[in-house]
Amino acid sequence: MKCPGCEGFINDCSPHCESCGFDISEFDKCLRVPSERSGGLNDWVGVITDEGCGRIADRLAAFNQATGIDFCLVTLQTSEPRSPREFAFWLFNRWAIGGDDHLGVLVLLSMAERRIEVEVGYTMEKYISDDEASAVLENHVVPFLKRGDFDNGLFYALDVLAKIFEHGRAEENKNEQAS
Ligand SMILES: [Zn+2]
Repeated sequence: MKCPGCEGFINDCSPHCESCGFDISEFDKCLRVPSERSGGLNDWVGVITDEGCGRIADRLAAFNQATGIDFCLVTLQTSEPRSPREFAFWLFNRWAIGGDDHLGVLVLLSMAERRIEVEVGYTMEKYISDDEASAVLENHVVPFLKRGDFDNGLFYALDVLAKIFEHGRAEENKNEQAS
C-alpha cells in the first residue's frame, strides 16, 4: 500500500514509512479507536437496501469460499478530520483486515467527501495494485454512485475486484498442478 505521507510504498506489516517518517499512530490521535467490525459489509450510513445487502452477502460468501480472501466493505458518513484515503489506510490496518497474512481488501465509501477508496493487502498486490484497483472502481463503480445507485455501486465494487482475485487464484492453482 501507499504511504499516506509521501505516497511511497509502505509494507503494511508495520505501517511506518522509512522515507518520510509517517507513522499510523499519528492517525490514532484524531481517529482514536475504530468501531466494531461486523462481517464483510459495514453499512454504517445505511445506504444499501435489504435486497442490496442480501446480494452483497451472497457474493461475499462465494468469494471467500473460493479464495479465502477477506473482503470488507464500509460506508462512512465522513472521514473527518482525515481524508477518505487516510481513513481507509488507518481502518485497514487497525482492523487488521485479512489477518497476519494481509489477505484482505477494504473498499470504503465516504459519503460527505463523495469518495470511494480501496486498500489491497500487500501480499495481494501481485494480483492488482492499489492504483489499478482505484482505476477499476473509477471505471466500473463511480458511474453508479454518481446516479445515487449505491446497491449496484457497492455490489460491483465487490464483484469486479473479486473476479480479478478469483482469476489470479485460479491461475496459481493451475500452475501448481502443472509443476
Ligand atoms: Zn512516507
